[in-house]
Amino acid sequence: MILVTGGAGYIGSHVTRELINQGYEVIVLDNLSTGHQSAIDRRAVFKLGDIGDRQTLDDLFNQYDIKAVMHFAANCLVGESVQNPLKYYDNNVGKTTRLIQSMVENNVKKLIFSSTCAIYGNPEQDIITEQIPKKPINPYGRSKLMIETILSDTLKSDELSYISLRYFNAAGAYPSGEIGEDHDPETHLIPNILKHLQGAVENIEVFGNDYDTPDGTCIRDYIHVQDLTNAHILALKHLLSQPKIGFQYNLGNGKGYSVKEVIGECERITNKKAKVRYAPRRPGDPPVLVASSSKIKNELGWFPVYTLTDSVRSAWQWHIKHPHGYQ
Ligand code: UDP
Repeated sequence: MILVTGGAGYIGSHVTRELINQGYEVIVLDNLSTGHQSAIDRRAVFKLGDIGDRQTLDDLFNQYDIKAVMHFAANCLVGESVQNPLKYYDNNVGKTTRLIQSMVENNVKKLIFSSTCAIYGNPEQDIITEQIPKKPINPYGRSKLMIETILSDTLKSDELSYISLRYFNAAGAYPSGEIGEDHDPETHLIPNILKHLQGAVENIEVFGNDYDTPDGTCIRDYIHVQDLTNAHILALKHLLSQPKIGFQYNLGNGKGYSVKEVIGECERITNKKAKVRYAPRRPGDPPVLVASSSKIKNELGWFPVYTLTDSVRSAWQWHIKHPHGYQ
């Protein structure tokens, strides 16, 4: 059995579905603080609970034969982490540490950890490889880097194996439009543009157009959630087949798009015109984040197959089918 923490969230719900499609038995642990129960695949066992609750974790590890944990449950908003850093250090660092402790003590030895490109901060290189210095510039990135450090130390002292997957900008939705991205409040670029184009919000705010980039807006590497999902399954298979490993992999497309370019792509797919309002820079935002994913390509044979167009198109399908999200 695979334990998926945060399986009611955006990426966790997509991975849960695919795990079950591929024959894995899944138990989802989620406190539903940001996730949605209806996003959880009905074929999964669902346990409502918090990853910070040792008793809940110990009970799960005792009750089920859990071979590995995929740990998605976390807070993941750069802006919010600047406003409320203690929430991030408590949920992302404190509670994850308790999860790792419980795993070690209950002899569950395999972990896939959701990390982020935010650990790199504001890199000098145009294309980010895993080796470059980690200098996060916001509490979200620092909280994830702290766990990577804890994992690397735990690898040396205990029987814990892990793969840390550093996501760039997750985007898109399940091809059927059944599950997708639904945050409250929504802060991510693509869903915000699409909501605006659906008429739910008056304009799309662009945070900063004075960055040192060709059009002045921030550049990000958007990676389809189904590509991320496939990377998780490959990583899980690798983790389960190896004795003891601790690896980190970037997950991105290797191509950056500016905020303005993403707006243009959304306009093209939806055939609607966006009303843009320029707003000040958002604290904690680096100007450019683009991945090299050569390491996971070479070592695990992962290749992203979806483009930005696919991400926007599938996200649009999700928005059309669910104009009010999971409500
Ligand atoms: N962004 C924006 N308007 C929005 C949401 C995001 O201009 O309504 C910008 C944001 O400042 C960043 C980029 O879009 O430069 C991607 O932001 P998002 O929150 O989607 O992901 P992040 O890179 O923070 O993980």
